[in-house]
Amino acid sequence: MSQPFHFSDPKRARELADAIRILAPREPVKLVHVCGTHEIAITRNGLRRFLPESVRILEGPGCPVCVTPAADIETAIRMGEKGAIVCSFGDMLRVPGMDRSLESARSQGVDVRTVLSADEAIRIARELKPREVVFFAVGFETTAPMTAAVAVDNPPANLSILTSHKRIPPAMAALLDLPDTGIAGYLAPGHVSTILGTKGYETDLARHRIPVVVGGFEPLDVLYAVALLLRQIHDKTPRVENGYPRAVSEGGNPAALKLLDTVFETADAMWRGIGTIPASGLVLRPEFERLDARRRFGVEALEDEVEIRGCRCPDVLTARAVPSDCPLFATRCTPLSPVGPCMVGAEGACSIWFRYQGERPL
Ligand code: SF4
Repeated sequence: MSQPFHFSDPKRARELADAIRILAPREPVKLVHVCGTHEIAITRNGLRRFLPESVRILEGPGCPVCVTPAADIETAIRMGEKGAIVCSFGDMLRVPGMDRSLESARSQGVDVRTVLSADEAIRIARELKPREVVFFAVGFETTAPMTAAVAVDNPPANLSILTSHKRIPPAMAALLDLPDTGIAGYLAPGHVSTILGTKGYETDLARHRIPVVVGGFEPLDVLYAVALLLRQIHDKTPRVENGYPRAVSEGGNPAALKLLDTVFETADAMWRGIGTIPASGLVLRPEFERLDARRRFGVEALEDEVEIRGCRCPDVLTARAVPSDCPLFATRCTPLSPVGPCMVGAEGACSIWFRYQGERPL
């Protein structure tokens, strides 16, 4: 009888590590992923130990909470000060804002509530009618369809949306245009890719001719995707390749893509630690502007000029540093006392490295 397949089988992992060793170039090569779930898989399972010295893999802007501009946090707080109940995912609460966080605003009387989904915000709006409820919508293409579903489903009149949703492919392209990033290939996130499909990366990355492999989140998925990336680099055949075919198709999820297109249009967006990236934001289309919290509360767009002294989040988010390069890592900056956003978000590289310091190797 054949043995069941284990996605963390150490023997298969060693076989993939052998393939990686054969394919790896002698000169240093930097691979980047853009997903906290990938960083958790890599760090928790000690996968960096399977890579030869010449191959490094770093997290870029893969944590939605970490890249949410401080100005958007301040905007949400100002809406709360105008009487709204602000509903936000739990991670957002402790992220440092312009000079206060949602959590500190809550301690001063702003009604901030933690929700697990947009549906919960709707429930709160229905229960507490006629109080205004603002759903602070953050996240990439994986969570944006859920916000879009709320918008088309006749939400209560006292609910509005503060959208800070972002698109991953333009951010991947933008990093390649920054100096000193030196990225040789991208491990693309499996969950975002279930929505976008492999095709979803082609337009934004076409001019860069960079290897991209969509990868899953089990240890063997990650090692397999790294092997595919190194093969593309070795063969000089850069393209978007599917290393996660059991979940991702070429065309993605047509229903989710249609929903996104119905509700949102793209706009330039500010990414914390990176700057403004063209066409990387999702804003409500004019047909849905009645749900736009910025319009409803008349809160002007704020300048985002926050710099946290000593914090290297901008370098971590652009894959120019790893958390341990920051002198504050695990000293002044810990999950209990975070200095920068990357130590707050569950998908932030600093928070992940802190949590899994004692890696559990396969
Ligand atoms: S360890 Fe803290 S201060 Fe340093 S980069 Fe990470 S979040 Fe910023």
